[in-house]
Amino acid sequence: MERKTAWEKYTKKQKQDVMVFAEGYRQFISDCKTERECVKEFVKIAKKQGFKDLAEIIKAGKKVKAGDKLFISNMGKALALFVIGKEPLENGMNILGAHIDSPRLDLKQNPLYEESGLAMMDTHYYGGIKKYQWVTLPMALHGVIATKDKGVIEVNVGDNELDPVFGVSDLLIHLAADQMDKKVAKAVKGEALDICVGSIPLKGEEKDAVKKNILKILKDSFGIEEEDFISAEIEVVPAGPARDYGFDRSMIMGYGQDDRVCAYPSFWALMNSAKLDRTGVCLLVDKEEIGSVGATGMHSHFFENTVAEILNCMGCYSELAVRRAMSNSKVLSSDVSAGFDPNYPEVSDKNNSAYMGKGMVLNKYTGSRGKSGSNDASAEYIGDLRKVFDDAKVSFQTSELGKVDQGGGGTIAYILANFGMQVIDSGVAVHNMHAPWEITSKADIYEALKGYEAFVKNMK
Ligand code: MN
Ligand code: MN
Repeated sequence: MERKTAWEKYTKKQKQDVMVFAEGYRQFISDCKTERECVKEFVKIAKKQGFKDLAEIIKAGKKVKAGDKLFISNMGKALALFVIGKEPLENGMNILGAHIDSPRLDLKQNPLYEESGLAMMDTHYYGGIKKYQWVTLPMALHGVIATKDKGVIEVNVGDNELDPVFGVSDLLIHLAADQMDKKVAKAVKGEALDICVGSIPLKGEEKDAVKKNILKILKDSFGIEEEDFISAEIEVVPAGPARDYGFDRSMIMGYGQDDRVCAYPSFWALMNSAKLDRTGVCLLVDKEEIGSVGATGMHSHFFENTVAEILNCMGCYSELAVRRAMSNSKVLSSDVSAGFDPNYPEVSDKNNSAYMGKGMVLNKYTGSRGKSGSNDASAEYIGDLRKVFDDAKVSFQTSELGKVDQGGGGTIAYILANFGMQVIDSGVAVHNMHAPWEITSKADIYEALKGYEAFVKNMK
């Protein structure tokens, strides 16, 4: 069974819609390169769209009713948005889940040191990366520094055209004889991913004069001391905007598309949904790339607690009501899929692979080896989804993550499935997944938006 690309079905007007939505997305991922920046931007838009802060409603003891549009931030790194439906919450929700953290290099807690006249910052990589891909690129610093008494200071250096950039060096080919003989996994060591941040010594200083000069610049620019790095979260990410990709501008190359390429259309699908029967939810979580752990990851009780709070605000809280609201829910757990790559055909099963431009992807299961660790969605649920997507004329395709026994991966799907929800992995195909610059198809992003909208509005 072959599926056509979505491009073939578009009218001139639809193709324009695809390009316009993709341009908004391109700007979004150019500006929002951390989970915190995503939450901030999404909250800003949601407020403009009439969404109210649930945390304030809970605090004020106000009521929640059908038709209300709500958001709640989890420590500024994860976000849940709700459009309360006419049906009782106990009947379950239609949930769009995705993650907003991406692979990167994090500054260590004591990052700054000087070595042979260069100021360096020590990093610890976050998520699954091929280390050799992260050298010799212009990098930017995004994050926060929490001071003891001056509040939280935001850092964003390297993405403005006039900003300096930073970077990880690589060995010159002329002296790389030993390195070139190593296995690719060992060619660049984790401790060799430190970034260079300066080289001018501070006048009148003997020891660590270059480091001292950097500290002076940091003090002048941000008002911080060296010790403040202890309570900082600074992410080293590829510098520069996402770009159109290909002569026909059909694709986008940008950093952090795993999984903002699913988060962005999920968010807009909910923004575009008013007056729902079943409550619609967009759930954007952190820490997926390191196992969904921690207070802001999917394993946290944050979402369940929030559902309990909403039921309480609606005057119908009970433990049983929470359990029913959770277990009667249906989920599109969205994350990126491996797009078939003509340069590496040997890792994919051609008949069960996702293709760029053929629409949103449904993965019945992910996992590795004998489907180990996968959610494996029910046939009945997929049957219902096919009807929803076909009725809305959404292009979709099915896929596995590569050939059997080729490797594998996981998402947040199984965690929500633990509540007894119907869950399927869905999302957008990507080339260069987890590389500094990832590639997606604009048609797929648009079809994801349309698919998510159809799901939120029409899934029974
Ligand atoms: Mn990933
Ligand atoms: Mn992902």
